[in-house]
Amino acid sequence: MTQREAQTYWNQWHAFQQRNEKRFAKEFYKALQIQVRAFARTQDVMQIPTFPIYTVLNKLYTVVAPKWARISRDQSLKADDLFVTGRLGFNERIVELMRQYYGVNLLNDAELMTQYSREVIARVLSQAAETGASFDDVVAELLRHPEFSAMRARRIARTETVTAANAGAMVYAQNSGNVMEKVWIAVKDKRTRHSHRDIDGTRLDIDTAFNMPRSQQNAKYGDISMQQPGARQQPNGLPVPAVEVVNCRCTVAFQAKRDSRGNIIRR
Ligand SMILES: [Zn+2]
Repeated sequence: MTQREAQTYWNQWHAFQQRNEKRFAKEFYKALQIQVRAFARTQDVMQIPTFPIYTVLNKLYTVVAPKWARISRDQSLKADDLFVTGRLGFNERIVELMRQYYGVNLLNDAELMTQYSREVIARVLSQAAETGASFDDVVAELLRHPEFSAMRARRIARTETVTAANAGAMVYAQNSGNVMEKVWIAVKDKRTRHSHRDIDGTRLDIDTAFNMPRSQQNAKYGDISMQQPGARQQPNGLPVPAVEVVNCRCTVAFQAKRDSRGNIIRR
């Protein structure tokens, strides 16, 4: 893959990712506001529901992962594949494989995000107890609180679209029936974290994980390996530290290996 091809692939990725980030940020924002309203009604932090976030998360994975898997396939494979869908269609098969490979547990993820919402509300409540603010004041503050705002919604949408899309493309490539290589592609601007700028352009066999370079931000976690950008779990089963995932805008491209005659090598 030439520098120019990598750039073209990343540009296409960036447009796709931004479009979906915007779309789903709106939906996550609505979900967060539903949580605040549920609290306003019940006055009980434990009654804040998980399902509004879960519903959006589930939709995001079902839509974004197969869509990007298709684009990635058209962009990077440019050849036949033996991807087996069986009785399932392409989209369903991608989602099913993600469950198998990554043990994607969206309900658990939504529960963690909801737990965080509860913590934020508990903090605002304890501040109100000190200042003597009324319950109505608390609700008004929560409705415009950064953690229930478009800002958090955007952060969630960004992280989740990157995770879902790259995982979708990855499971497709792993099951394409071809011997594949993968290349990590980072955006080269000032906001890119150092470990991702350093790994940019690294090419590996598809099943080999990327060893993340040490940086100031990740030094305390020891060795970290990731199968693709946005991965939440390391091959050894440990979680990937959030510092490698949150606000990451990297992607991964794939290429089928060819023999000396230029024919694709089947797995
Ligand atoms: Zn990155």
